[in-house]
Amino acid sequence: MDKHDTFEFAERDETLDLDAGPGWIILSVDDDPAYQASLAYSLQGLRLHDKKVTLLTAGSAAEAATILRQTPDIAVVLLDVVMEDDTAGLRLVGTIREVLGNMAIRIVLLTGQPGIAPRTMVMDKLDIDEYWDKADLTSARLSSVLTSQIRTWTYIKQINMARQNLQMIVDASRLINSKQNLASFASTVLSEVGKFIGIRDGGIICALNPVAEQSLHVVAASGIYQHLRCDSLLATFPPDMPTAAIEQSIIHHEHQLLTDYSIFYFSCVETNADTYLMVVKHDTDVPEGFQFMLQVFSENVSSGFKNIALLNRLSELAYQDPVLGIPNRNWLVRELELMTPAKINQTMLLKVEVEHLDESILTFGVQFCNRLLEQAYLSLYGQLPDVIAGARTGDNAFVFLLPWQADFDRQIIKQQHIMVDGFTQQLFLVASLLELRHFTFHPPETMLTLARAACSAARTRGKPFILVDSKLTDQITNGYNLLQDLRRAIRGHQLSIVLQPKVRLKDEAVVGLEALVRWRHPNGRFVPPGEFIPIAEASGIVGAIDRQVFEQVVDTLRVFHEQGITLPIAFNLSSSDLTDNSLMEDLIEFARSNHAGARLLEVEITETQSMDDYHRFRQALDRLIDAGIQVSIDDFGTGYSSLAQITHLKAHSLKIDKSFIDDVTTNINARHVTEMILRLGQRFGFSIIAEGIEQPEQKDYLLAQGCDIGQGYLFARPMPLEEVLDWLGKRTMVNDRA
Ligand code: C2E
Ligand code: CA
Ligand code: CA
Repeated sequence: MDKHDTFEFAERDETLDLDAGPGWIILSVDDDPAYQASLAYSLQGLRLHDKKVTLLTAGSAAEAATILRQTPDIAVVLLDVVMEDDTAGLRLVGTIREVLGNMAIRIVLLTGQPGIAPRTMVMDKLDIDEYWDKADLTSARLSSVLTSQIRTWTYIKQINMARQNLQMIVDASRLINSKQNLASFASTVLSEVGKFIGIRDGGIICALNPVAEQSLHVVAASGIYQHLRCDSLLATFPPDMPTAAIEQSIIHHEHQLLTDYSIFYFSCVETNADTYLMVVKHDTDVPEGFQFMLQVFSENVSSGFKNIALLNRLSELAYQDPVLGIPNRNWLVRELELMTPAKINQTMLLKVEVEHLDESILTFGVQFCNRLLEQAYLSLYGQLPDVIAGARTGDNAFVFLLPWQADFDRQIIKQQHIMVDGFTQQLFLVASLLELRHFTFHPPETMLTLARAACSAARTRGKPFILVDSKLTDQITNGYNLLQDLRRAIRGHQLSIVLQPKVRLKDEAVVGLEALVRWRHPNGRFVPPGEFIPIAEASGIVGAIDRQVFEQVVDTLRVFHEQGITLPIAFNLSSSDLTDNSLMEDLIEFARSNHAGARLLEVEITETQSMDDYHRFRQALDRLIDAGIQVSIDDFGTGYSSLAQITHLKAHSLKIDKSFIDDVTTNINARHVTEMILRLGQRFGFSIIAEGIEQPEQKDYLLAQGCDIGQGYLFARPMPLEEVLDWLGKRTMVNDRA
């Protein structure tokens, strides 16, 4: 075992004068001056356990009580029983034990008249140690009585002190172990060690830098050393300190208790490279018996230092990116949490994402990319003004906190040329900048999520940079609130449908209807689907809406059936619904169990996003068509991919998007697209529906181009079921599927 593990103290200097101080103090209480004199004579020059003896005398019990009160370290009392009266001595025993509470002092009763207080009675009733007839107590016997009583007294004192010390150590340890940072731990250690040693002058605790042992890092300082600032670096210990002894402690890894200084050496090599040295100045020698306690204390301190080192290591692990050695996301979140609202308001969060990192990893390897990231971080850090904090928040992402209105060149996002291994590498970055004052009371996680979403938005828009300002923030927060409300509406089945007729253009006979969802917000406003459907799609809950619409369409078909109406009803499916197995199962199950109903059921699918995963999309369409459900491609013409895919597309009809119909009488391009779709439809056998017809000219034009079916305010607005039934009563209905 290493010496520093046992925390042994260096051997004490044994040339100390043992006769300094009073030695053993004996109090003789006797009203007979002659006896006092003979006692003094026989104790003269006596040495017991290598120490001299000091005799105090008292002529009465009262005087003795005063001396005892003033002199706590009396080892033995030689007590005459008969003084002022027959039992004055016996009463003094009670005073010593019960009033003064001194249980350590040894009491030897002496009597010149053996009959007065019978020996056995006295020994039983009173807490005394020996009872002698003065006549029997020869010089030699007195010496042996005192020797053994002093030994007992020393033991009792040591036990008492140990008990007290133990309490002190327990208290001190509890206090110092409650400190979790080095500085407060160290200053607590300094103040606690003072209680043991009685430091008046103060002390310091320094960390020794293992690499350059010359430099000392002040961790705590007290008393006359208080001017040494915590965290400052010292070349040497203060000149008044015993440099040679300190050197000894460092070389031999040991504590030393000197007359007016104590040096403690703590090593934490197991946990980190730090070694600590505590030097304290005291005005007297460390009291006897405190050595053992100091040893226990320093073991506690030493484990305290180790605990702190471990904690630091843990927090390094928790708050540092292990690869780049820079703060990580957890650290940043903690920093943001610790910031006051006022500080947050004056801060901007810049999130930077490195594009195509995965491709680079596959091409150049992980190590190269780590260096690339490291250099990119340093480069950005250097180019950004007044960075408050920087952290790696994801594989390819960094976040920098900047002062509000910090002005930086957006060019650094557009162009980063990074040198790695002597090669210049061009980095593509996407960034978002959040003014945190819009999110003062949001949790840091929300800020980071928004920053990430904003980066994605920048990427989709093909821009390298996006500013999350108050306008965008309002959109986001409104969207968030709306989503919460929408979830509640879905749960409470508060969504309803309206039905908008589709007509045969040549005679406006009704050929079918489209169900459109309606949501009346608790605040009374009808929220347009164009506002909440995209949010529902983005958060994956659109399926729940479409399921409820589907159920209401089925109910409506039942009402129609009862009324003898055989018009098909279409409802809208988002492309994500096609990959939602349970909704697909339900649709197909409905079609299987209700053939007649299935023929009247139609789905309209918005083509824009769905074409990305054409294969899955097509499979789903096939399943619906095989089940006998009509399929329509909505908003046709807005997504280019569908034009290319049209030859493979399985669907019954295409709906020309309203945006083309809007412009069809005024804009040549809109006409071109419309005409192309009509021709494609004829060629590949789709029926074509024109939606959003508001003007007779639009209808005339479409009719002239060979479009059969239309939908729009010109013919009818979307209506609730009651109104629809009314409206249908006055119309001609045709159903080629009946
Ligand atoms: P869409 O499927 O293209 O529906 C047509 C939209 O145009 C409807 O708006 C309808 O009210 C409106 N419209 C019809 N004729 C005219 C017209 O002559 N002029 C004008 N200005 N507008 C007309 P709505 O109901 O607000 O729906 C908007 C979009 O929300 C729908 O476009 C559809 O994409 C989506 N949506 C509506 N209901 C649902 C649903 O139940 N599920 C899903 N997934 N999406 C739905
Ligand atoms: Ca539609
Ligand atoms: Ca549409």
